[in-house]
Amino acid sequence: MNEQSFFKLVMHGTRGTQGVSGPDHIKYGGLTTCVEVLSDKLPPGELFFLDAGTGFAHAIKAYMPDIVEGKIKVIHVLNTHPHKDHIEGTLTYPLSYNVPFETRTHFYGSKPPSGRSHKDVVLGQFDGDTWPIEQGLLNHRLKFTTLTHYPSQVFIIHPEGGFHLMDLGRLQDAEEVGQIRLSKKVVNLNECMVVRMKKTSHSNANCLSPRLEDRETGAVGVFCSDHEARSAPSGEIKAHFWEADVLISDCAYTRAQAVALTAGWGHGVGMGVIREALAGRVKSLDLTHHVTSSSDQRIDGEIRDEVNAAYEHYVGDEKFMEEQKLDKPTFTPDDIHMCHDGMVIDVLEAHLRS
Ligand SMILES: [Zn+2]
Ligand SMILES: [Zn+2]
Repeated sequence: MNEQSFFKLVMHGTRGTQGVSGPDHIKYGGLTTCVEVLSDKLPPGELFFLDAGTGFAHAIKAYMPDIVEGKIKVIHVLNTHPHKDHIEGTLTYPLSYNVPFETRTHFYGSKPPSGRSHKDVVLGQFDGDTWPIEQGLLNHRLKFTTLTHYPSQVFIIHPEGGFHLMDLGRLQDAEEVGQIRLSKKVVNLNECMVVRMKKTSHSNANCLSPRLEDRETGAVGVFCSDHEARSAPSGEIKAHFWEADVLISDCAYTRAQAVALTAGWGHGVGMGVIREALAGRVKSLDLTHHVTSSSDQRIDGEIRDEVNAAYEHYVGDEKFMEEQKLDKPTFTPDDIHMCHDGMVIDVLEAHLRS
């Protein structure tokens, strides 16, 4: 392995539904969802984020000196779906506006139930009624791609070959020969990061979960926000989570909240999250998308307790363990963490540890 290799996920926003602040939310924070991908596989001068909640606008502040100096050429943002908590950071993102910087921002996202394009959904926020600045005043360096058939689309990223969206078939062909043509350059697949996508279970939202595979080191991180495990783990979800070094999963609600109101809304509770993480043989689990009403005390109390109890339940359930062909769990309760704003998850380190 190259000594320069690195692969980290930075949790810039870990709150779901709506941002929050105040003395009950000091430890976990209140910025809405955003994860930054840090990897040596990214081309120099290019950044990569998952979701553009308010954590995205916050994260970009640290890069403003480099943006002003022209060192950042492109910022890629893969939005899991266009619910407000996942795109509202674009409203206060400095580069949404006509600023004199050359940096381009490329947003990728799925189609919502209305069938609108990703561009129409994101720019639709700038309507002049609920937001004072209208689309006509926005930066012309914003680019949008609607992922029309994303389970069979994939991103391939290489430090010299660039950042590319393509059909899965091209990856499959490349896997046979170990090489792929990216722009004008042929590169080894084992020097790339590959991002596959799968649809989550999130009411009628067309929400995607990215699985990021560092083909050089073998380290794998999965971001699965806005997902509700509703039945026995499917083969598809197991394959998507399979042996991930890090699974970042939605664990928004307590069981009582789910039973009373939120079941079917498409968010995680301890039992479902643990069941799928065990079935997918993940190595560590990081829980996010804390709902607005969850105080630090509830996240450390009820939610954490339910997660631990769910772990004990399934690991002690012989029938479940047998069905999943598990002799022993692939992670321990110590490998389960509650995400907070600003948390850095070292995926490569988790891979090398396991
Ligand atoms: Zn959400
Ligand atoms: Zn959502």
